[in-house]
Amino acid sequence: MKDLHIISEQTIALPKAAYQARHFINGVAQDSADGRKSDRISPSHGVVVSQAALGSDVETEAAIKAARAAFDDGRWSRLTAKARGAVLNKVADLIEANVEKLALIETLESGKPISQSRGECGGAADLWRYAASLARTSHGDSHNTLGPDILAMVLKEPIGVVSIITPWNFPFWILSQKLPFALAAGCTCVVKPSEVTPSTTAMLAEMLVEAGLPAGVCNIVLGYGNPVGALMTSHADVDMVTFTGSTAVGKMITKTAGDTLKKVALELGGKNPQVIFPNCDLENAADAVTFGIYFNVGQCCNSSSRIIVHEDIADAFVARVVEMSGRVAFGNPLHHDTQVGAIVTPEHAAKVDGYVRAAVAAGAEVCIGGAVLTVPGLGGQFYQPTVVRGVTPDMAIAREEVFGPVLVVLTFRTLDEAIALTNDSAYGLSAGIWCDDVHTCLEFSRRAQAGTVWTNTWMDGFPEVAFGGVKQSGQGREIGSYGFDEFLEVKSLVMRIGHTRAPWVKKA
Ligand code: NDP
Repeated sequence: MKDLHIISEQTIALPKAAYQARHFINGVAQDSADGRKSDRISPSHGVVVSQAALGSDVETEAAIKAARAAFDDGRWSRLTAKARGAVLNKVADLIEANVEKLALIETLESGKPISQSRGECGGAADLWRYAASLARTSHGDSHNTLGPDILAMVLKEPIGVVSIITPWNFPFWILSQKLPFALAAGCTCVVKPSEVTPSTTAMLAEMLVEAGLPAGVCNIVLGYGNPVGALMTSHADVDMVTFTGSTAVGKMITKTAGDTLKKVALELGGKNPQVIFPNCDLENAADAVTFGIYFNVGQCCNSSSRIIVHEDIADAFVARVVEMSGRVAFGNPLHHDTQVGAIVTPEHAAKVDGYVRAAVAAGAEVCIGGAVLTVPGLGGQFYQPTVVRGVTPDMAIAREEVFGPVLVVLTFRTLDEAIALTNDSAYGLSAGIWCDDVHTCLEFSRRAQAGTVWTNTWMDGFPEVAFGGVKQSGQGREIGSYGFDEFLEVKSLVMRIGHTRAPWVKKA
């Protein structure tokens, strides 16, 4: 522990009272009919930081009914795209005006450092603005070459009522990867955040009202996956589900939604590798590996939890990553300089630790970390920056999503071996290569089974560029024009000009 950079002080005070998060149904903020609430205890400070209404079938039914009515009467879907875009742009302005408020509660509920909460919540405004621009530029196709008397068009229409289910790791960002795009398309929505991070989603409701979103267009139900999420995915009045979270729940949702054949878009887990060749900017690569594994305490679908490093440089490269790991500022998320905060729940911290212990028991070697981290004055819900080598590709730590600050090291000799290791995974979210030879980068990029490939960088993302996974990392895409199109249905319109249609029935 003495080799780690730990910050225990804080520069921001805890709020005096817990935030009260309420449902938002048909334009009205409300508690549960039965009055039930859940307390959220801050992962870093161990005190109650929010109380959220705990929804049941009653609130979920009411929210779906409101979204269905709002879609069917066209109060949003039949507005001009200009009018929809204006509302979304106003929401973006309000997000920016409220970044400090959003960021503080995001940090208190999730345990992530305040600087990253500010980046997440403030940065989300750009997703709303980009979605607004897509609303206005969306169009279909026309076919003007089908013959002198035929004109056909392909129209795009909003898919209908969309259930949006989000996880706890980036509550406000992931919401903003989905909701503004669905709204831009003209859909109406029912949103359920994770019950451990409900507050920024609840706060957004006030901004939607202020921006002029009509009542019923976006409804928010707080509560557990069961019953709230389960009903949102099975209900016959819902046309589409978009979900981010674990692969296990994603598979369950696919089955539940199958009964009514609703469309399902899934953004799930990953076991994302960065491949390191000797002829790259090794210092930059080591920094990107350190960032890729510790950002959001590794609780990130895009976490680069595996490195596949060339044997010739493996020892030196791992030593550099270990040295950098000791310099990353772990600790109190309410300090401006902290880079890595707390683990979301005690159960999750135990799960992370379990992976490391199992790997060690199977013969792996811990180069740094490998245990719970106690930050003086705060609880023990932190985990040390951890690098594990001597790992074989069959170990659970090398195959499963640990979702913690735990990096595993594998090695290769040839490009084919690196690609085989990259693709030896049930997941296919993202992959990266560090190499100065453009031909090697291109070969890798084309053969890696992943929704995103980064070359000589990691986790650079933009609202314009689609995001999503292949294999068991998901289906469908988010953000970019591809993500927007997920919320649109396609309708073909075929028109005959004049009375030129040849009769099918022979004249009597
Ligand atoms: P889950 O997949 O359980 O949770 C994600 C969301 O789904 C939450 O809002 C949850 O509600 C909801 N949910 C749970 N069960 C159902 C259901 N039957 N129907 C509809 N919605 C449901 O993730 P966990 O929070 O349990 O995390 C477990 C693991 O998942 C992590 O260790 C990590 O490996 C992975 N994960 C991956 C993420 C990613 O970004 N790809 C994000 C989060 C987790 P609630 O929890 O409120 O009950």
